[in-house]
Amino acid sequence: MSKDYFIIPIFVPHLGCPHDCVFCNQRRITGLSTNVSKELVQKTILEYIATFPKGNIKVEVAFYGGSFTGIKKEIQEELLSVPFKFKEEGRIDGIRLSTRPDYIDEEILGLLKKYKVDTIELGVQSMDDEVLYKSGRGHNSQQVYLASKLIKEYEFNLGLQMMIGLVGDNRDKSIYTAKEFIKLEPYCVRIYPTLVIKDTYLEKLYKNRFYRPLSLEEAVHITTDILILFEYYNIDVIRVGLQPTDNIRLGGDVLAGPFHPSFRQLVESNINKIILDKFISLSNIQLTDKTMIIETKGKNISNIVGQKSSNTKYLIDRYGLKNIKIYPKNIPEHFIDISIDDISYRIDRRKAIEDYLKSKAII
Ligand code: SF4
Repeated sequence: MSKDYFIIPIFVPHLGCPHDCVFCNQRRITGLSTNVSKELVQKTILEYIATFPKGNIKVEVAFYGGSFTGIKKEIQEELLSVPFKFKEEGRIDGIRLSTRPDYIDEEILGLLKKYKVDTIELGVQSMDDEVLYKSGRGHNSQQVYLASKLIKEYEFNLGLQMMIGLVGDNRDKSIYTAKEFIKLEPYCVRIYPTLVIKDTYLEKLYKNRFYRPLSLEEAVHITTDILILFEYYNIDVIRVGLQPTDNIRLGGDVLAGPFHPSFRQLVESNINKIILDKFISLSNIQLTDKTMIIETKGKNISNIVGQKSSNTKYLIDRYGLKNIKIYPKNIPEHFIDISIDDISYRIDRRKAIEDYLKSKAII
């Protein structure tokens, strides 16, 4: 039985970062403005552990935000010494942190090994040098290749984070970034649509009409292609879209951009819509006034139905169906069974996404 997985997030806001990426106001992103101390790390870990169930669980401490390996070496050691001790005592299972590609070298990796860090996530954002430059990232794609290679040589898990809709970005450049990530064989990936956050340079660009954020619809479409691509190559996408917080919401610190509290679900639903639509349109089944039965693994159902039943409504309207009924069925996750008039069909999601990627010339 697989273990339940719990993360203890510790935000390290802007401590180590002299950069000003156009989209970032690190203090606002994390909702924190104070510096993190060893005592706070200890307190946070203990507080979280007290809330976790006992038994078969996996716990990981994650230093998010900022650029961890850009912090002074002594502070890095101080902060890492806390989860290190918990790990040595068997009270947590893993340590992860995020940083910039240009803050990785052999000395840094040696230090992270000493404190038993498992996963290093690089905030890459794009593999297109023009996009990186226009976004004020202060590093180029070459540094991403070098840092990723070194991280793997030192046998850390490599995580890569990308953004879509950056300044100078477009769908093709985002697909290119995803494809370059795939070549680097990451352990996990995160995808974030660019949002216009208060008190950032992007806010100025936006207000002066030098930057147009993606619409929610555009962001869903681009992320759909990227998520399908990562799924095809079996790459674990651990986050899609920023986590909503008190500040991260439209009307809060998000001034504009494709923010949605369930962004990933919108994308996953869109993928299911594409798969079902494609299957039905190619199968030449007579559907008018028929009831379609869909059976699939229980966990797939909400994404097949879509938010506010958007997918089922779409299919009913498009094909003149009388109704769609969806039931859970104990079959492998990548199958969707469809029955109409007692005739059954099986969709293999793996084949469907391969066909989709080929039809759009993505692979
Ligand atoms: S490097 Fe990271 S923390 Fe620093 S400004 Fe850029 S996005 Fe923000």
